[in-house]
This record gives sequence, structure tokens and C-alpha cells, in this order.
Amino acid sequence: MKYIGAHVSAAGGVENAPVRAHEIGATGFALFTKNQRQWKAKPLTNENISLFKERCRELGFSMEAVIPHDSYLINLGHPEKEKLQKSRDAFLVEMQRCEQLGIQLLNFHPGSHLNKITEKECLARNAESINLALGQTDGVKAVIEITAGQGTNMGFRFEHIAEIIDQVDQKERVGVCIDTAHAFAGGYDISTESGFTDTISRFDDIVGMNYLLAMHLNDSKKACGTQVDRHDSLGDGHIGWTPFELIMKDDRFNGIPLILETPNTDRWPEEIAKLKQLAE
Ligand SMILES: [Zn+2]
Ligand SMILES: [Zn+2]
Repeated sequence: MKYIGAHVSAAGGVENAPVRAHEIGATGFALFTKNQRQWKAKPLTNENISLFKERCRELGFSMEAVIPHDSYLINLGHPEKEKLQKSRDAFLVEMQRCEQLGIQLLNFHPGSHLNKITEKECLARNAESINLALGQTDGVKAVIEITAGQGTNMGFRFEHIAEIIDQVDQKERVGVCIDTAHAFAGGYDISTESGFTDTISRFDDIVGMNYLLAMHLNDSKKACGTQVDRHDSLGDGHIGWTPFELIMKDDRFNGIPLILETPNTDRWPEEIAKLKQLAE
């Protein structure tokens, strides 16, 4: 079973996200459980929580297929003590919101070293941040996203991800999300069949396919290796359809959320329909 969906809006309340996902023909979805550009969050009400759960159940969304993204402000590898703590506090709140909603996965980007600490120190801080969050929550997995490597952002090499996971205590509660646009911009040329196959086998060797808990399916407006993160609609960018066709036909990508973060939301129903068709 392939869970195919998009990062839908949760405007008006998290309970609206499953409705929007259903409207576009999705079988999985991503969302922000709070405003992604603010530190503060209004606590979820009992009504938010019960309606979210009820609608997911009624509309047939498995909790395996739902993966929120954390706030863009959070930097779990921050070089400065106070700012690192602020990020860790906010990340814990994000994890707790998932717990409340019965969600099992939380997707986030590894932090940036801001040229103030080494890459190694930054990766260790990320791992420590994950350990702290997992130690204070239950049942939610921390899902590290591959980044494009913009600025001083870590996580654009599979080795970075492996180094973080290596330092996580609860290995059964950590995983990885491969974003196709990020991997490509970060230097993994997945645009051809051999390039895609080789990239996935390198991922398996360095990180392990057992850690793959989600994917973001995006084409890229920027060329391979540019380390610039600009998503494009499927088939419109430098990647093309090849890897998406391969993913849809490959059982190793079953049972995990496969989420569009493509820029033209009007095209999501069409993109989802085409992906579903390829998966048949
Ligand atoms: Zn992504
Ligand atoms: Zn991105």
C-alpha cells in the first residue's frame, strides 16, 4: 500500500487537514500542527483533538500515513546555548502535540551550525536534542529530513544523517525522510534510473532502508548539486518523472507517507492521481 498525499493547510484548526487531504484524493498527508513561523502556539483543545482523530478515522487515514512538519524557526543544532534551549523547548511542544493527536511521526530538518561550531559538534547537538525530546515523550518518532544544504544547514549528506542516528539512544524512535528535491539539490542525481537506484543503495549502505519512514516528493527548480532548495511541480523541474515512477513501482516505499510539497497546490489532485496510477 502506498500512502500518497500532500502537505495540506491546517488553517482554522488541525481537524481541517484530513478534510483537505481527502478532497484532493490523498491517502496520507502532512500538516503543521501550529503556526510554522511563530514560536508560540495556542494549546490544542479537546475539540481539536477529538475532531482530528474522528475525521482521520472516518476518511480512512491510517496514522502511519500522517506526518507533521515542525516549525521553520527550530534549530536543534544551534551553536548558542539559549537559542538551542528555545528550539528544544519548541520541539518538545511539537512532539507533545503529535502525542495528543495520536500521530506517530514528526518530521524536522537538522539544524545549522551558523559557522560558530564544527559540523561534527552541530550533528552531536542535533542528536542530543532528539534524545531529550524522545526522553520526555512516548510513541512519537523523530523523522530527520534530508536537506538541500542551504547556508550552513546540515543533513545534506547521508553520512550526516547516519552520524546523528548513531548518537540517538532510542533507535526504534528515529527515522529519515528523503525529500527528492533536497537530495537532488544536495548533490544526489536521482533524475536517471541508474542515478536513483545508486542513490537508494547508498542510502541503504550508509543509513539503512529500515530507517526510511517518509518521503517528500518534489521536483527541483535548481540543478543537481546547487544546494538551493526550490521545489517544483512533478515533471516540471530538473528531476523529471523517472524517480517518481520508480518509487511508485517499488515495494520498499510501501507503508510510509509519500508527501507532495510542490508549489502549485491546484495541481495536487492531478499529481496524486498520476502517482496512484503509476503505483497500480
Ligand atoms: Zn521536504
Ligand atoms: Zn524544501
